[in-house]
Amino acid sequence: MNGWRGNILWVNLNEGTVESKPLDPQVAKDYIGGRGLGIYYLNELVDPQCDPLSPDNVLVMATGPLTGTGAPTGARYMVMTKSPLSGAITCSNSGGMFPTEFKRTGYDAIIFTGRSATPVYLYLDHEKAELRGADHLWGKDTHQTTELLLAETDAKARVACIGPAGEKRVLFAAIMNDKHRAAGRSGVGAVMGSKNLKAVVVKGKGRIPLADPDRFKTFNKQILDTFQEGVKVTPLGLTVNGTAGVVMVTQNFGVLPTKNWQQGTFDGWEKIHGEELTRRFLKKNSACYGCPIGCGRKTRVDDPHFAGQCLKEAVTLYELGKRKEGFQQGNSFGAPYRYGEETWADDMEWGAAELYKTTGEKPYLEDAIRYARMAGTVSWMPYDTARHYQYYPFVNMGHYALYDAVDESFKDSLAAYYRAGIESCLERAGRNPYRIGVSFIWCSNNLLTSLMAQMILYEEMTGDERYRDFLLLQRDWLFGRNPWGTSMFTGIPEGGEYPVDVHTSVYAMTGREVAGGLIDGPVYGTIYRSLAGLVLNDADEFASVQNPFVVYHDDMGDYSTNEPTMDGTAGAILMMAHFATR
Ligand code: SF4
Repeated sequence: MNGWRGNILWVNLNEGTVESKPLDPQVAKDYIGGRGLGIYYLNELVDPQCDPLSPDNVLVMATGPLTGTGAPTGARYMVMTKSPLSGAITCSNSGGMFPTEFKRTGYDAIIFTGRSATPVYLYLDHEKAELRGADHLWGKDTHQTTELLLAETDAKARVACIGPAGEKRVLFAAIMNDKHRAAGRSGVGAVMGSKNLKAVVVKGKGRIPLADPDRFKTFNKQILDTFQEGVKVTPLGLTVNGTAGVVMVTQNFGVLPTKNWQQGTFDGWEKIHGEELTRRFLKKNSACYGCPIGCGRKTRVDDPHFAGQCLKEAVTLYELGKRKEGFQQGNSFGAPYRYGEETWADDMEWGAAELYKTTGEKPYLEDAIRYARMAGTVSWMPYDTARHYQYYPFVNMGHYALYDAVDESFKDSLAAYYRAGIESCLERAGRNPYRIGVSFIWCSNNLLTSLMAQMILYEEMTGDERYRDFLLLQRDWLFGRNPWGTSMFTGIPEGGEYPVDVHTSVYAMTGREVAGGLIDGPVYGTIYRSLAGLVLNDADEFASVQNPFVVYHDDMGDYSTNEPTMDGTAGAILMMAHFATR
């Protein structure tokens, strides 16, 4: 039974009961795959004459022996039932992460019979299966339902659910899983709604057992290698344009379903063809578990009116900056306290690069290149000290923004600018035991997240992975690999050692902790001892690990090291987003 889990969960919605029964090995062999199992059980259990939206219909969710094994395109599950749309047995299927998680619970299939008197959802993990009330979810859309269920069960669970269309038994309602994946054929969502079943939540554990994991891995790799070789020559249409890539083919053959098949062609098909959607909206591909094709699309539809307004304002601001070069400042003129910011060409470079990419107007590109040369390697990175915010912002995003718009030779220059800064920090890191690349002037953590951002952007631009280990060391410093053994983020990790007594008005006035803020970070002892009016409110909890060179306190009275900052936190979000995708 390798590849299978050997169990089927029977859910009787009339009675509100769940029961685990073994999967008959002969059935699994004779009716291989999720579709086969579904057909077998529908044939056994459903009267072909029954009303598909009555309690007599049966809904089968089933995986196959390859689901969750990592086999390419094997990350799918089937939803089988008598279709309310066609009256025939239907097979709808979907991918994403839900099917793999489902199988990791230890079940190959779930069979729903009857109808619940009130809305329910099924919670299934590797230890228990139970029906829970779903009154509070009824009427919610699939995104809201998914978020609420993850919050009340397990953030790492996976959810398949219906929205209002399924509840109202719309004949083409889908079952959505992982928010964005659909079992969309033949109204399976309506059948789920007719059973008062709002959702299925699964949380599994462990791997799918295989008879010969090493051989499986080798064979899998062979397939993937062959695939990768092939797509180098001819990129796969599914990857490039998603499933909407078939619009042109079906239009040309006269089989593009239009007006519920009253027509086989659609006027205006060009606007919904995959190529056009890719050109206008695609931001990123996404893939189901283990799939090398990645036909999923992450898209963004812009509001042209709002975008036009923003562009107008951006042009005005850019022109103002160009008329008054050298006057970019992080705070307004006349403010009682001014930062020592001296850099400005980086801001102009970034603005010009974005305007070029938006408008395609060449003068912006010429400006951006000119400013990029001026900004070059200018940065806090080579220096052991700097005036407060002298080199703000602490990473030049302009070089990254411009990179894709220039020729290979200038690309090399932009990458070299970033590399020069990182190398200075690497050299400095060799002089301390924690291998931290920043100098401990004010806002050292802001410098640290900026250094990390520069390394992340550098790798993204060039594919050069040489700074990966260095990046991890900087990250770990922020999460507690430092002399004080503390995270530098308020409220993170939950229950761990993190800054509480922070120098911020919310905490001072209300005592409320605000989670997720990155604090200023340690400063040189020389700086700390020179600060006017700095008095700690409490005895120093870190006294035994303080050292004369670098100081940190979790004490509201220390306004130099533990104040949460906006810019440092923004940099940290970039860093977390980077690691969240790995
Ligand atoms: S990413 Fe696309 S091609 Fe790959 S399994 Fe998912 S739906 Fe199929």
